Amino acid sequence: MTTLVKNGTIVTASDRYVGDIYIDKGVITLIGQGLNLPADTVIDASGKLVMPGGIDVHTHLDMPFGGTNSADDFETGTIAAAHGGTTTLIDFAIQNFGEGLYPAFEQWMGRAQGRAAIDYGFHMIVRELSDQASHDMDRMTRHEGISSFKLFMAYPGVFQVDDATIFRALLRTRDNGGLICMHAENGGVIDTLVKEALRQGHTAPKYHALTRPTRAEGEATGRAIALAEMAGVPIYIVHLSCSDALEKVKQARDMGLPAYAETCPQYLFLSYEDYERPGFEGAGYVMSPPLREKWNQEALWKGLQKNDLQVVSTDHCPFCMNTPPQKQLGKDDFSKIPNGAPGIETRLMLVWEGVRAGKIDVHRFVEIVSTSPAKMFGLWPKKGTIAVGSDGDMVLFDPDRELVLAAKSLHMRVDYNPYEGRAMRGAPAVVLSRGEVIVDHGEWKGRPGRGEFVKRQAGRPLVP
Ligand SMILES: [Zn+2]
Repeated sequence: MTTLVKNGTIVTASDRYVGDIYIDKGVITLIGQGLNLPADTVIDASGKLVMPGGIDVHTHLDMPFGGTNSADDFETGTIAAAHGGTTTLIDFAIQNFGEGLYPAFEQWMGRAQGRAAIDYGFHMIVRELSDQASHDMDRMTRHEGISSFKLFMAYPGVFQVDDATIFRALLRTRDNGGLICMHAENGGVIDTLVKEALRQGHTAPKYHALTRPTRAEGEATGRAIALAEMAGVPIYIVHLSCSDALEKVKQARDMGLPAYAETCPQYLFLSYEDYERPGFEGAGYVMSPPLREKWNQEALWKGLQKNDLQVVSTDHCPFCMNTPPQKQLGKDDFSKIPNGAPGIETRLMLVWEGVRAGKIDVHRFVEIVSTSPAKMFGLWPKKGTIAVGSDGDMVLFDPDRELVLAAKSLHMRVDYNPYEGRAMRGAPAVVLSRGEVIVDHGEWKGRPGRGEFVKRQAGRPLVP
C-alpha cells in the first residue's frame, strides 16, 4: 500500500517547508517537491500543516478502579485519540500484589490487542519491588521494549512505595537503561488531611483539592529528584500541576541534572474554581494532582516555553458522571470519587490555543505533543518526526477549522466534558497512521485492532 501526501506545509520540531511525502508499506520513503509517483491513495494537503502524529505518553484505558473501570477501553479510547490527532499512546499496566511484572503486561496486552486502533506501548506500574519484579524490570527493558516504570509517592496501601523502594528501583535503571516515571505527591500528608476533613464532615468534591496542597507535590517532586540524583539517573515527573513542583524541576535542571517533567492540558486551562461549580458537578474535575489556583497556569506555560517542562500528555482516565454513575461513588465522600477526567481527544486542539495566543510557536507545539514524548520514551525516530525511514504517522492540521467542544460530538465514551462549550480554532482534518487514512474530516476510516504494540528502546532520554 502506498500513499502520497501532496502540497502540505510540512512542520516538524525544527523545519518548515512545502513538500510532498511518499509512504510505502507504512514507512516514509521519499520527501520532495513535485513528486509524481503512482500511489494507491493521493491526498491533497494544500492549506494544511502536515505534522507528525501526536504521542500521548500518559493514558489509563480500561483501568480497574474501585470495582469499576475507566470508561474508555482500548477501542473507544484509541478511536477518540485518533480523532484528536494522536497516533501513538503509552498506557500504564499495573503490577498485581504478590506477582512479578509479566502477568500485568500480559493482562494489558489482552486488553489492547484486537481493540487498539492506533499504535501503543506500556509503562509498568511497580507496586512492590520484589526480586522477581526487579528481575522483570531488566528483562522487559532488554527484551520486551518496555523501558519505563512508574512509581507512586501517594495512595498509601494502594500504590505508594517508600523511599528505599524508589531508590532501589532508580538504581536498577542505572544498570538496565530504563526510566522511572514518578507520581510525586506526599501520600502521608494527603492521607492525614483527607481523614481530618472527613472527620469534620467535609464531603464535597472541592475537599479533594483542599486536602492535596501544592506543597505536598513540591516536596515529593524535590525528594524524587534528589533520590534520582543520588542514584545517578534521570527521572521523569508525571502530570506536574503547579508552580511549587515546577520550581523543583527548574532548580534541578539549572544544576544540570537530567530531571524531566510533563504537564497536562487540564493544568493549563482549568483551575480550582471548577470545584466550586454547583451541586456535584465539581466531581468531574476530581483528579490527582488536583486543579490549582489559576495563577499557576502562566508558570506552566513559561515552563513549556523554557523547556523546564518537555511534554504535554493527558492522563486520560475518564469516569462517567451519571450513565453509568461512576463519579457518584463519591456522592457522600469526596475521597471515594474515582480520580480522573477525559482528555485523550482534545490535547492537540487545546495546546494549539497556546500557539494562537503566541505563547509557543508551531515548532515547539510539535515538540511538546510529539517529538519530545518520542525522544523521552525510546520511540524516536520511528515516531515523533516526519523523515525518511519514520512511520507514516501524521496529522494534516487545519488551523482554520472551528469547533465547539462538547461531550456529545466528541468520541470519548464519557457523559461529560470538562471543556464543554469551549470554542476552538485549529483542529486535525486528516489523520494517518502508518500511511493509512484513519480519520478524514471527522469521519472514522480506521478499524479496531489495527494498532500495533511498539517496542521502545532503552537508554538515556534524547531530550535536552
Ligand atoms: Zn495517571
